[in-house]
Amino acid sequence: MANGYYCEDCELAVWPATTRAELKWLRERQNIVREVEKHLSGGVDSWIEAGLAFLDEHYGHSVLLRERD
Ligand SMILES: [Zn+2]
Repeated sequence: MANGYYCEDCELAVWPATTRAELKWLRERQNIVREVEKHLSGGVDSWIEAGLAFLDEHYGHSVLLRERD
């Protein structure tokens, strides 16, 4: 089972390698995570990068949490 974000407006999805709980956490705290990211020389985990990139791209759209087999 994979978890990801799905944009209803664009009908596009992304499936970062992480859990549904983590994706929910990231979506609710993306502004905090972006702030913290600026101060990390090593960067953040790739699932966070992928998730933030998708949320950026679909800012203002209807983005849902989705599951797929
Ligand atoms: Zn979109």
